[in-house]
Amino acid sequence: MNLSGLHHITAIASDPRKNVDFYTRVLGLRFVKKSVNQDDPGTYHLYYGDYAGSPGTILTFFPWAGLRHGRPGRGQAYATAFSVPAGSVDFWTKRLAALDVITEPATERSGETVLTLFDPDGLRLELVASTEADNREPAPAKEVPREHAIRGFHGSTLGLDDQTPTATVLTDTMGYREVASAGHRTRYAVGAGGPGTYVDLLTDPNLPHGLNGAGTIHHVAFRTPDDAAQVEAHRQIETDGLQVSPVIDRAYFKSIYYREPGGVLFEIATDEPGFAIDEPVETLGTRLGLPPRLEPYRAQIEATLPKLD
Ligand code: ZN
Repeated sequence: MNLSGLHHITAIASDPRKNVDFYTRVLGLRFVKKSVNQDDPGTYHLYYGDYAGSPGTILTFFPWAGLRHGRPGRGQAYATAFSVPAGSVDFWTKRLAALDVITEPATERSGETVLTLFDPDGLRLELVASTEADNREPAPAKEVPREHAIRGFHGSTLGLDDQTPTATVLTDTMGYREVASAGHRTRYAVGAGGPGTYVDLLTDPNLPHGLNGAGTIHHVAFRTPDDAAQVEAHRQIETDGLQVSPVIDRAYFKSIYYREPGGVLFEIATDEPGFAIDEPVETLGTRLGLPPRLEPYRAQIEATLPKLD
């Protein structure tokens, strides 16, 4: 299977305005797409990432105002890690404290410094500073200097009861390889490896069982270059005995979905065509993006959605 790392990660939120403020102003990501939940067009689908909305940098949200909070834990993608430059953890510790963001004290984990923080819905995020090179260009941000800015994803940590069945899908079906193991955590990488490709499997018995709701991850998407590679991935997943959805056109990429044996929903998404398909890169995130079948209802949908600015 031709995968080159994470494509996007999608989470559940409550208040969309708090969500936009946190990810753009506090974390300094770019708001790259304002769209709707294709299964529930009266609610938003919000996308944040680097300047161009490159695969491997995109965190997306389904915000439902008033939704009850869930609890990150086993059976879920437990933590979502962003890559930040070595030496930037002090900047982030001070910034997040000044903005009253809940954090845990920074820790060392196998040569990386990890700062855990929580978004307004309690979504568990990590800023990971490692000595590994990450040459991705960050999105320009008003309050976050370039030398400290988020480069994109570092990886996703899956909370599991049992590591083996998930590890088998990662390695035998998806072409991942084990690259490190310490304590209850085993790290896998794919393709060129490095930040943006990692999946950590965590089998800490103290981890609670996850409950879905605001502040939890909905699914983790992996990137494949194009339609032909996705068809090949679909065939492989089916051959290995997993239930997989048909190809679904998500306008900015095409997707297939399957649930890995540990309970986490996986997606494989194409790099093509990308977020500039319906608005120029310079103005990404300003116009409501709708798939062609919803375009006739634009006026009605825009009237239903809460204003974001
Ligand atoms: Zn997705």
